[in-house]
Amino acid sequence: MAEKLAIEGGTPVLKRSDFGNWPIITADDRRLVNDVLDSGIVAGGTAPQVTALEKEWAEYVGSKYCLTTVSGTSALHMSLAAGGIGPGDEVITSAFTFLASASCAIHQNAIPVFVDIDPRTYCMDASKLEAAINERTKAIIPVHIQGCPADMDAVMAVAKKYNLFVIEDACQAHGAMYKGKKVGSMGNTGCFSLNNFKNLCGGEGGLFNTEDESLLNKAALVRCFGDEVDEVSRRRVYNASILGYMYRNQELPAALTRAQLMHLDEHNAVRIANCNYLTQELGKIDGIIPPYCPSDCTHVYFMYNVRFAPKFAGVDCEPRKFRVAVEKALYKEGMLVGQWQTMPVPAQDLFQSKLGYGSSGYPWSINEAKGIKYDYNVDQFPVSQELCDTYTVVHGIHPPNGKELMDKFIAAFHKVFANLDVAIAHADDEIYPGADGKLYGAA
Ligand SMILES: *Cc1c(COP(=O)(O)O)cnc(C)c1O
Repeated sequence: MAEKLAIEGGTPVLKRSDFGNWPIITADDRRLVNDVLDSGIVAGGTAPQVTALEKEWAEYVGSKYCLTTVSGTSALHMSLAAGGIGPGDEVITSAFTFLASASCAIHQNAIPVFVDIDPRTYCMDASKLEAAINERTKAIIPVHIQGCPADMDAVMAVAKKYNLFVIEDACQAHGAMYKGKKVGSMGNTGCFSLNNFKNLCGGEGGLFNTEDESLLNKAALVRCFGDEVDEVSRRRVYNASILGYMYRNQELPAALTRAQLMHLDEHNAVRIANCNYLTQELGKIDGIIPPYCPSDCTHVYFMYNVRFAPKFAGVDCEPRKFRVAVEKALYKEGMLVGQWQTMPVPAQDLFQSKLGYGSSGYPWSINEAKGIKYDYNVDQFPVSQELCDTYTVVHGIHPPNGKELMDKFIAAFHKVFANLDVAIAHADDEIYPGADGKLYGAA
């Protein structure tokens, strides 16, 4: 007789207190942040912490230059502006990503175009890229999704053929490697987020990398109002030459990021060990499809996904219902599970309604006025849709959590998969798996 599921009143496998916190704060964080407070310098485009972080991050990624900024989204927008992408230009990105990979184009009055994903890596399917290119296409934004490197050789080959600008959205992949190169070093620019969930945390913030000095200079203008700087005195002249924004970072987040960077590789190694172990063990359970990473790449597991295939689990259940049933049962066992993106990005209301700026229909209307149609029908992205129907994120794979917690995760999966009929019977229970800590119920 199998153990009674927590969803039926049995004892949960996990307690909330089994989970350690992310980010991990060490003496390095306290020291560097206190240095800022002691110095009295809290901000400035060339202040000590942001300057040091730019140097250290450029070295880490293996690119020539880096600029700190306020967010990953602003790094993406700075890239498009520096690359000369403008109103009515088309920018191609992946259908399974975070909104900002696409909305950054709208911020530049350009029009996002989506390409479906590879069913194994969940990154943009480069074999579908050429079909999305036309004379208006100016840029491609491959996304290293959840920490898995995108197929950069294939993306760069297409970009070269059509003379397109490439912006790597590496916001989820600090330290990930593609064929011996760090992600963020291969495109014209590479962009990273420093928000509190990401592998490298500064509270909030972003990093912009490039090899190209002219892109660096343009991005620096975009970052600070478009305001020119006097070449001799290095002072702002209060004469804006282009449209810019206020995207400067500040000393406290930069200091926190520098301290976190000292531990990035060590922390990524724990994520990788945890996830490889989960993949090895969960892969033995029929009906669970763990994530995949090409053998010549290093995945850094910003997130750890599993997909469910009810057919292989030996049950006759509609896949979406099955996924919800398993999530709810796992959640009751005390696991932190739940979906991140629930639909392909083009399915979001912004793209369906094309209401970006009030009721203007802008920027789509720029080209629609010329008879060009933009169709965000989700049927064009079946692989992304199938993923969204069938995946859940297993939270808590980051350090300080280790093998002991992973063993509990594995036990919870085994328990639920030994009682699938019971779990499915509870598929419609009012339980809300999600990332909201207070909802995780297991005492
Ligand atoms: C987090 C994230 C961003 C945006 O980063 P912010 O710092 O939150 O602006 C962009 N793209 C992807 C894929 C992300 O995960």
